Amino acid sequence: MPDGAPHTAPVFGFDNSYARDLPGTFVAWRAARVVAPRLLKLNRALAEELGLDAGALDGPLGAEVFSGNLAPADAEPLAQAYAGHQFGGFSPQLGDGRALLLGEVIDLQGRRRDIALKGSGQTPFSRRGDGKAAIGPVLREYLIGEAMHALGIPTTRALAAVATGEQILRDTGLPGAVLTRVAASHIRVGTFQFFAARGDTDNLRKLTDYTLARHYPGLVGAETPALALLAAVTEAQARLIADWMAVGFIHGVMNTDNMTLSGETIDYGPCAFMDAYAPGTVFSSIDHQGRYAYGNQPGIGQWNLARLAEALLPLVDAQEDRAVERATEVLTTYAASYEAAWLERMRAKLGLSGAEDGDRDLALGLLSVMEAQKADWTLTFRLLSQGLRGDASAFRLQFAEPAAVDGWLDLWRARVAREGGAVGARAAAMDGVSPLVIPRNHMVEDAIRSAVWEGDLAPFEALLDQIARPFDEAPGRDAFILPPPQSFTDSFRTFCGT
Ligand code: AMP
Ligand code: MG
Repeated sequence: MPDGAPHTAPVFGFDNSYARDLPGTFVAWRAARVVAPRLLKLNRALAEELGLDAGALDGPLGAEVFSGNLAPADAEPLAQAYAGHQFGGFSPQLGDGRALLLGEVIDLQGRRRDIALKGSGQTPFSRRGDGKAAIGPVLREYLIGEAMHALGIPTTRALAAVATGEQILRDTGLPGAVLTRVAASHIRVGTFQFFAARGDTDNLRKLTDYTLARHYPGLVGAETPALALLAAVTEAQARLIADWMAVGFIHGVMNTDNMTLSGETIDYGPCAFMDAYAPGTVFSSIDHQGRYAYGNQPGIGQWNLARLAEALLPLVDAQEDRAVERATEVLTTYAASYEAAWLERMRAKLGLSGAEDGDRDLALGLLSVMEAQKADWTLTFRLLSQGLRGDASAFRLQFAEPAAVDGWLDLWRARVAREGGAVGARAAAMDGVSPLVIPRNHMVEDAIRSAVWEGDLAPFEALLDQIARPFDEAPGRDAFILPPPQSFTDSFRTFCGT
């Protein structure tokens, strides 16, 4: 198609259940027009999975559609309302201040998925924000989301990144962009809080029924739907946060508006992967108290679920003290679910398929040496499999004083010996759960810097290619494997991407 010719709006095959079933929970809205949209990246594999025409969208048409300039013919764009506790303080009205749900598609596997724009301009929920996003944070969300997906962790994903050709104003002028995000849904703890805070029990009930049907259809018809939902989300979040902990992921801004009911990771802002193990690790420039530090994440998960429980109380029991009692009973399952999920992941990382009482202490024993010896989270676990194959030297070198981990290695070898079985298969299984490549912070920063300031997307593409296969041994990966110098990590800060 020649430049400048008008494009025909594509049809995405939307089936918009949120718009249909939940009137009064959103505002129909349109994206702001941008001057010169340019497609930076289309996730072709994901587009195909969604049943979209990847070939047609991978160019100027995609730039028009994924900037928001050209709505798909069957889109009913809307901004969702939600509330949220941000760093512990409650905001009764947040909502999509710079995002628009275009619609829902049923993907090739029959799963219902939201397609939404982020950075598509102001909405009635923008408060003082400009509704925009910058290229840097958009590419960051793209990379980290794809890394999480490749690691097998439930996550929203990036379908496209488009540069808008506009400058947006932050501390300095920055080139603007729009991210297209795909999610199982965008329903958050904060969505429930929005209606609870208004005493709108009618919409709260509708939202509960809708969420149960969409994410936990096996529980439809439960005696107390709100309790069934709370229990299911509690389990899903316990498992999700255990997934994060197992790969050293720090979300960075676990506000209740950033916690999904589906159990997917959402809102990649100040998130980052930890290098050397330290439970207090915080990268976010605004998290002064370390509320969302690596080691606090499981506890914050529980705190957020307690906020969900509070929001659901009117649906649990007409008698408030009885409602509190029943919701609390469900919430108390979180700690055991989390511990079980965490131990399951740690056992896999240690090459254990059976279970012994001492396994938790064995795992904690390694963590305590890692912390004292500033061992790199990713490489320590990855290289442990070599110890099983007979050479623990690379593993030992992850510790400032390698001899410090020898006592633990003896305990671990004795434990593994009690498992029996083939060493090769066990080591391969360990390599299948502990990645070799994560999006290292310095590589992510480098890729973003090149894209934003030099217009060079090659480092972004190269990193994307690497993080898409995190578990593979392959030549030429060294630059992507090694942690940055400690001096980089010490001064590394992340930003909310607003
Ligand atoms: P976040 O920190 O990205 O989870 O955003 C928290 C809230 O602020 C959400 O309601 C966002 O939609 C809103 N928000 C974030 N950035 C902007 C922006 N630049 N303009 C308008 N609203 C924003
Ligand atoms: Mg958010």
